[in-house]
Amino acid sequence: TPSTVRATVADLVPADDGKITTPAVQIDELHKSFGSLLVLKGVNLTAHAGEVISMIGSSGSGKSTFLRCINLLEQPDGGKVAIDGEVIKMKPLANGRLGPADMAQVERIRARVGMVFQNFNLWPHMTVVENIVEAPRHVLKEPREKAVEHAHALLKKVGLAEKHAHYPGQLSGGQQQRAAIARTLAMRPKVILFDEPTSALDPELVGEVLRVIRQLAEEGNTMILVTHEMQFAREVSHKVLFLHQGKVEEEAAPAELFGSPRSERLRQFLARTL
Ligand code: ADP
Ligand code: MG
Repeated sequence: TPSTVRATVADLVPADDGKITTPAVQIDELHKSFGSLLVLKGVNLTAHAGEVISMIGSSGSGKSTFLRCINLLEQPDGGKVAIDGEVIKMKPLANGRLGPADMAQVERIRARVGMVFQNFNLWPHMTVVENIVEAPRHVLKEPREKAVEHAHALLKKVGLAEKHAHYPGQLSGGQQQRAAIARTLAMRPKVILFDEPTSALDPELVGEVLRVIRQLAEEGNTMILVTHEMQFAREVSHKVLFLHQGKVEEEAAPAELFGSPRSERLRQFLARTL
């Protein structure tokens, strides 16, 4: 379609194994303000297919805003967002900022970028299986039978096969979050964004959700994970970014970032967290 802009040669960045591929996610110089509050001040991130990138940082450093800009829940003010080589076209708005030019493109991008929220965000009036088939039915136009079959397979994968006819309110927080992950997977996303997926859970329910996320990592899903679970981030990530006041303060492989942090701010943050 005319609104699709393919990546140029300059957008192709070699992966760690040296192969030249189109990144699943490429963010360049992302800026975002709310009124006079500068929240993101030029954030860069490249995620190749199969990579897990974790993002850590203090409350208020801009982690959620960053994820929300990737799937266009927030409109970036400046910078470039490309999903699987498709550059999101933004046009200048009357207020001098940038806005996505094309709602069709926004819909297309959202369908490819899955998001798992801290508070699950399941529809309370729908059963678990109805929650899962909703978007594939209406966005991907999947036939009901096929969508339901896929939903049951996903519920089995997250250990909730028996709960398909339950309403969210009848499930524990850990079960609701696993259902929310199944709902995200139902769209076969190119990348999955997790925004503190275990922060709202009682401690004894954290493990069952992390196990599912770990399995998704091992299966080669591309994921960007905002988390306070440092040990988990260390184990599953290919790369960890430390965000501080809207900028990436440090970025490294997990063993290096956690093992020998260079910046004083990161050292202080880790000392407070671990
Ligand atoms: P984090 O997820 O790292 O805790 P957020 O991205 O949620 O940080 O927030 C970063 C800053 O942006 C905070 O100061 C927050 O109050 C502010 N902020 C986030 N969303 C909005 C909004 N919709 N309107 C105004 N300010 C916001
Ligand atoms: Mg947040």
